[in-house]
Amino acid sequence: MFRTPRTLAATAQPPIAPARFPQGWWQWGRWGRCSLLAAVLGSVGLLAGCPARETAVGPAAGASASLDRAMALELEQQERIGVAQAQEHVRQLLDLEARLPADSAERMEAVSQRAALLSQIRDRTGHEAAVETLKTWPASSPARAQVPLALMLAKAQWLKNNGQLGAGIRVLSALSDLDPAAAERRMMFRALLLQGYLQSDYGEVDASAESLGKAIELARAMGSTWRAASAQITLAFSYFRAQQADHAKRIVAEALEAAKRDPDPVLLYSVYTMMAIVHSQDADSALNKLGSEQALRYAQEAQSRYLEALALGNLADFELRQENYSRALDLSQRANVLAQDLRDIHTEILARHNMGIAKIGMRRLEEGKRDVLQAITMDAQREASSYTAESWLELGRYLEKADDIAGAVDAFHRSRQLFDAVLRDETRKAMLEAQARFEDQQRQREIQLLNQDNSLKAEQIRNRDLQLKLWAEVGVGVLLSGALLALAYRRVRRTNAALAQTNESLRVQSERDPLTGLANRRHFQKDVAARCDAQQGLRGSLFLVDIDHFKRINDQWGHAAGDSVLVEVARRLRSVLREQDLVVRWGGEEFLILVRSENTEDARLLAQRLLDQIGGMPVNHGPLSIPISASIGFASFPMAPSGLTLEWERAVDMADTVMYMSKAHGRNKAYGVAAIHAGTREELLTLAGRMESAWHQGQVNLISLLGPQMEERS
Ligand code: GH3
Ligand code: MG
Ligand code: MG
Repeated sequence: MFRTPRTLAATAQPPIAPARFPQGWWQWGRWGRCSLLAAVLGSVGLLAGCPARETAVGPAAGASASLDRAMALELEQQERIGVAQAQEHVRQLLDLEARLPADSAERMEAVSQRAALLSQIRDRTGHEAAVETLKTWPASSPARAQVPLALMLAKAQWLKNNGQLGAGIRVLSALSDLDPAAAERRMMFRALLLQGYLQSDYGEVDASAESLGKAIELARAMGSTWRAASAQITLAFSYFRAQQADHAKRIVAEALEAAKRDPDPVLLYSVYTMMAIVHSQDADSALNKLGSEQALRYAQEAQSRYLEALALGNLADFELRQENYSRALDLSQRANVLAQDLRDIHTEILARHNMGIAKIGMRRLEEGKRDVLQAITMDAQREASSYTAESWLELGRYLEKADDIAGAVDAFHRSRQLFDAVLRDETRKAMLEAQARFEDQQRQREIQLLNQDNSLKAEQIRNRDLQLKLWAEVGVGVLLSGALLALAYRRVRRTNAALAQTNESLRVQSERDPLTGLANRRHFQKDVAARCDAQQGLRGSLFLVDIDHFKRINDQWGHAAGDSVLVEVARRLRSVLREQDLVVRWGGEEFLILVRSENTEDARLLAQRLLDQIGGMPVNHGPLSIPISASIGFASFPMAPSGLTLEWERAVDMADTVMYMSKAHGRNKAYGVAAIHAGTREELLTLAGRMESAWHQGQVNLISLLGPQMEERS
């Protein structure tokens, strides 16, 4: 498990005294800028941007535009690095506020930044006082109009740092009521960044991408490279969470370039942390390692215990992936000590989770599970659905490695349910299908164009038709006009038929996976909704097929070979299925099949045929011969012996749980649910939720099938 810092740049801070970065080149850059400013302004009194000389500025000088600029610069420096040392920067901001012209926009900015920091350190009294200052901002001040924005931001930050992500998002939803042109841009940027960050953790990844897109746009309009980069870093995380790692990597690479152009240790810390995250699943661990180590380096350069705690926790994640469990335990314990000291929930969750996973790796199972469950409970309490889902998945993976099959299956099942809540909901959480949606929009546009074309042609033909009629009426000859009319009408009919066909095929395409030609998730959702009655639930047999070690196939033979495998598996599936069966590409290397038969014996035979077909022979890709296999989970409804049915989402969950059992029991296998001894729907779901143990206790009957044996399997 890895974590990003609170809101990266969404909290604000005061300047750092030069002594803090004695050897930091960033500091030199900063001094360079200050000297330039001094040269331009040519006055000692205008050196306010340089912290070492801050005493040179008195409030009286505040009226000048140049001073405003210097102050703005100083405020910006604080905004950039404050997250590193919140407590210290609260003090510095107070000092700066006193030097800023009363009621100025700069002063409001300073109060807003301070409120953010106070919520980071969860100082309720201080935070309330800052909020009060904002509320009572003089009506005569031109900055008064920005009070609603400043309050919204302060409130949402407080909620976030106190574990109420949903409430924070609700507060920020009022952002759309503000006039973007009139809003103070620095605060607006922080509000959008915070909104995107909260939405991402909360599990609204697509909404998050939208907010962050706006933040990036605003940063660019402000000409602020570092702001754009910090929003990009958060955006990369959203893409990564939406399983679009390649896209996430591209964004991180761009952000790194930008950060190098306009650096500071907090920004570099953030970008390297994200580099480690988006490359955490690469076969080659080089960039994961580089990112983790550089992040720690910049956390230390920023002299920030807060960032150091996060960096240690993230480095522990890297060591876990290398199976260096004792080193991971040591790092996460160090992170935990710092987190306790800082009273920071977010970092504590990270540290505790990784401590637990390290212990599981060291076969200290019970102790490890306890730590991880505690971390998950803390995340669940703060409504961080994305993190909760990710944590269950990781727990499942490590329990599987440690041969705790029942625990692994249970964890996979819970993670799937949460991911579904995060990623399946059609209205809000469709980022997983963002690409498909984009293509869909394009197709819709094509359809519209075709329709326009269609009506244009029809209009032309109608005109011609009218002319013909006129000619006929003026008596050019009944025979001739009749023949021409017939010709024109036939043409209209033909054009319309052709267009109708094109429209239909475009509609079909929007519900198709372009790689394999199979129906996609959207099609399944529509089709299954039409097939199953809301009251009666789903009827038929469901199969979830997941290719084994597909990531290894990509890593070992290349992405194009992986694509060939997907195409070939789709073909093999179709060869076993009938026209009326529904088969869809459910996710990357997962396929979902729905057949009408409700009979368990039919399902068993089909599952065996699927295993045999898929794994029976290697897939050819050019000269390569790639051995493959799949794991399958299946279930038939109504469920024996009670005849209970479930809505399709729960039925898919069940197929998914038994599919994970096939994985956990060695892969190249199928498990099918033959019967669940439950009297009610609730009992059925409870038993399905702990399938492995219910099976051992005889409350569930499972069918177990083996795939073909292959010698060369990797
Ligand atoms: P397991 O046996 O546990 O299922 O392991 P796995 O490696 O199959 O599963 P995992 O979920 O770790 O990896 C799935 C991989 O599928 C990761 C992703 O990069 C890859 N993938 C997803 N979609 C595509 C695609 O369209 N083409 C290719 N080539 N790879 C894809
Ligand atoms: Mg999979
Ligand atoms: Mg797989």
